[in-house]
Amino acid sequence: MYELIIIGAGPYGISLAAHAVANNLTYKLLGYPMDFWENQMPQDMFIRTPHEFCSFSDANDELTIQRFAIETGVELVSPLPRPVFVDYAMWFAIQSGVEFTPELVIALSKSGNEYLIETEKGQILKARNVIIATGVEHFKYMPDMFQSLPSHLVSHTSGYTIQALKGFQGKM
Ligand SMILES: Cc1cc2nc3c(=O)[nH]c(=O)nc-3n(C[C@H](O)[C@H](O)[C@H](O)COP(=O)(O)OP(=O)(O)OC[C@H]3O[C@@H](n4cnc5c(N)ncnc54)[C@H](O)[C@@H]3O)c2cc1C
Repeated sequence: MYELIIIGAGPYGISLAAHAVANNLTYKLLGYPMDFWENQMPQDMFIRTPHEFCSFSDANDELTIQRFAIETGVELVSPLPRPVFVDYAMWFAIQSGVEFTPELVIALSKSGNEYLIETEKGQILKARNVIIATGVEHFKYMPDMFQSLPSHLVSHTSGYTIQALKGFQGKM
């Protein structure tokens, strides 16, 4: 039985896991590390948030993106390229002692005072507390009228860079 299971290994999940480590909680951080940022965003995207505000949360507020830049020699520029943010996330995880369990959760239920979590690899885990930090990817809105169209005719704006969106200019 874990004290804490965190579902989703993005910026919030990783930060939460860092606090679990600092507080000596038994925990699991489930999900592919930074998968949304690594694999499901436009690869040449820049981050809109100024890098001064891109740091994750750790117990002592020490593992900032500024410290990452100093220790690794990476230059922080504005706007910040997406890969730099992903590299910072992985550096933060190592520095804070966060361990990943790269498995998706497929079911979550409650039985008495404990939660039961089933992963895609068939693991059944028990936890006293669960935090769902799965981000925005499950909330893309696609109007019903487009659902039945083939995938080469329908796409979602979240999959485009500004440059790629310009390719639609003048097309009806
Ligand atoms: C194109 C685009 C640009 C953006 N730019 C910015 C920006 O500049 N600044 C900003 O602050 N925010 C930006 N965002 C918003 C960004 O998504 C959030 O700020 C940030 O990712 C939130 O972190 P998170 O940990 O909540 O979610 P995520 O980063 O989405 O992480 C959640 C993780 O949970 C995983 N997951 C989902 N389901 C499961 C499951 N069943 N089991 C296990 N794991 C699961 C996902 O794979 C994902 O890796 C942008 C979003 C998009 C789409």
